[in-house]
Amino acid sequence: MITHNLGYPRIGSKRELKRASEQYWAGTITKEELALVSRQIRTQNWKIQQNAGIELIPSNDFSLYDHVLDTSLMLGAIPERYHVLIDGISSKELDIYFAMARGVQKEGVDIVASEMTKWFDTNYHYIVPEFVKNQKFYRYSEKAIIEFEEAKQLGILTKPVLVGPVSYLLLGKEKEEGFSRIDLLDQLLPVYIDILQDLESRGATWVQLDEPFLVMDLTQKEREAFEVAYQKIRKALPHLKILLATYFECSGENIHTTVALPVDCIHLDLVRCPSQLSDILAIDSFVASEKFLSLGLVDGRNIWKNDFTKSLRFIENAVTVLGENRVLLAPSCSLLHSPCDLDLEKNEAVLSLEIKNWMAFAKQKLSEVVVLSKLSGASTFAEYTNQLLENQQAVESRKVSALIHRPAVKQRVASVQKADFSREKSFAERQAIQLKTLNLPLFPTTTIGSFPQTADVRQLRARYKKGEISHENYVKQIEDAIALSIEWQEEIGLDVLVHGEFERNDMVEYFGEQLSGYVFTQNGWVQSYGSRCVKPPVIYGDVERPVPMTVQWSTFAQSKTQKYVKGMLTGPITILQWSFVRDDQPRKDTAYQIALAIRDEVVDLEKEGIKIIQIDEPAIREGLPLRKANAEAYLNWAVNAFRLSASGVRNETQIHTHMCYSEFNDIIEHIAALDADVITIETSRSQMELLDAFAEFKYPNEIGPGVYDIHSPRVPSVTEMEILLKKALEVIPARNLWVNPDCGLKTRHWEETEKALKNMVAASENLRELHGSTQSVADYDGFSL
Ligand code: GLN
Ligand code: ZN
Repeated sequence: MITHNLGYPRIGSKRELKRASEQYWAGTITKEELALVSRQIRTQNWKIQQNAGIELIPSNDFSLYDHVLDTSLMLGAIPERYHVLIDGISSKELDIYFAMARGVQKEGVDIVASEMTKWFDTNYHYIVPEFVKNQKFYRYSEKAIIEFEEAKQLGILTKPVLVGPVSYLLLGKEKEEGFSRIDLLDQLLPVYIDILQDLESRGATWVQLDEPFLVMDLTQKEREAFEVAYQKIRKALPHLKILLATYFECSGENIHTTVALPVDCIHLDLVRCPSQLSDILAIDSFVASEKFLSLGLVDGRNIWKNDFTKSLRFIENAVTVLGENRVLLAPSCSLLHSPCDLDLEKNEAVLSLEIKNWMAFAKQKLSEVVVLSKLSGASTFAEYTNQLLENQQAVESRKVSALIHRPAVKQRVASVQKADFSREKSFAERQAIQLKTLNLPLFPTTTIGSFPQTADVRQLRARYKKGEISHENYVKQIEDAIALSIEWQEEIGLDVLVHGEFERNDMVEYFGEQLSGYVFTQNGWVQSYGSRCVKPPVIYGDVERPVPMTVQWSTFAQSKTQKYVKGMLTGPITILQWSFVRDDQPRKDTAYQIALAIRDEVVDLEKEGIKIIQIDEPAIREGLPLRKANAEAYLNWAVNAFRLSASGVRNETQIHTHMCYSEFNDIIEHIAALDADVITIETSRSQMELLDAFAEFKYPNEIGPGVYDIHSPRVPSVTEMEILLKKALEVIPARNLWVNPDCGLKTRHWEETEKALKNMVAASENLRELHGSTQSVADYDGFSL
């Protein structure tokens, strides 16, 4: 049975590419040195795959920044603003490439970067192709050819990987009116065909065309585009073997389009959608054809060991219908979304052997693919029975391990009552109560939680982690930072204060480290965009909160002031979304476990005198399933998880939530259903446009639309923020309007933060005067409801 791989992580197991590209951008290494590091990574990756025993090894899956950007350069889809950089010399290619990725600002040239957005429902971000009405395509970057030749020199005949033509168009955006990007297919195909012919003439026998849009909701026109594209490609290349890769979802109704395409092999993601196998095997025309089927059985997006017994059943089903020669084995999708190598996790104090034994990273996943293929071959089975037994033991031990399964936690989730999802009184009643008890001024000012993370604070945490300073000393220094920040906020004149989050490295990691059921890796890096990598924590077992996680800091902060200090927590969906999640129970169950842990924290904060508590959920939208039909179910449990975390408190206690990077139009009902007393959102960059959804829906609760962009050091003026607030007042009743920045301030410096917040406070004060009320909101009767 042929084994293959769809793509391997490009950052290097020690993040070599990150380091090299950042050095190149900083001007400390040359183009040639960067090229050398890239070549070393590619060589290493090919060798790893070869050593693992993978037969069809991909090329062109490497990328200096992003594979969609690579495709744009391959096709000459370079937006006009970068044309000044083209001078016909190929050495300019890299300048254009990074200009599109990151923008350029030097020597009198000032060009903005291309937009970046999420790659389907992963945490990887790609550079969005930009198209114009008379978009021309031509062969520009020869990267795909060069890397194919590079591997050939090493004696490896690879399977070049390209983003398929239809998905490429669909990934992009029309930059002017009057055309639809899918209509560009006719211009685009000749370039694809030219490149494919070139690859074939150089000896390629297989190519992989990634068409993940085949698992999305498609229009009739888009479906036809697939037919046209692949017929034309087939006609021009009757002999080249084409592997059409789909992943991340079920093909659903598109399966008929997919099997009818004139390609040689179809890859299905059987981890995300196991039922696709029986669907495709039930299509007579497919079975009667000579097409290959690639089974994506090893999870490319998570870190758990494959369950061989289960996978072998899938393989057997496929082989029974198609015969061994027509079945290929692979990971479910590109391993881009997996960390590189579990062997690098050597510190048992960080990752115990028992838990490590349940995991597989990219390198290990390839071995799994190979072992599965050996186990499914009659002649090789015996030789690999030991591996099967080991795998079964690991999988079994995970099913019963006391590390994972905490009966008390399961019991608690099972006994959650309907009433646990709701506050006692309705928002309107709570608001009336909170207006009186909190007695805040009209247009209250606040911030989103974090304050500048200076080198000193980072170093303090790092030294504490390494054991270089005592616990007492650490607590003292964090408290000093909190006390200073409280004093500073009072001076600035903010109404609702925060403690500053100096003790947090990251808003998920901080909680993960204190919850049971969580574990961390040392090298489990995954590319997020360009040189940026994240190291998601791992939820391996039932989640529980052994002791309070934030109460100490919040109560300390509160003890330093007469004003209110907001308790600051990360919400259950964001914690879930930014972690590797266990795959042995539905995500919803894990979300509820986290929600209960956060609920306990909320209740404890209230008990200790904290009157306002914020539960951040910036990732709620990211969790949306790819297909519309599945959105409702997700949103329902996501909203419930939030409500479960927030509803354990009295009516007097004000619950805030915060969201950024979110489009709200299509989910506004569910945002309202969170029933947070106050929501703060990011709106300044869109000039309050993002508020429209809230206005149209008549969002009933209080809201703080961000009045300044925290992503830049720029200090906005009082007038600018006043204008934004007045704009907000056109659609939000005065009593419901809060004044705050777009997001947390941890990436900023104190200096600009102080100026910006002072201006923000002044803007709010000016507005109060205009509304004739410098009194508390409770006394103010000028608002219309
Ligand atoms: N409370 C967090 C902070 O201020 C929120 C961060 C976020 O929304 N991404 O940093
Ligand atoms: Zn935010």
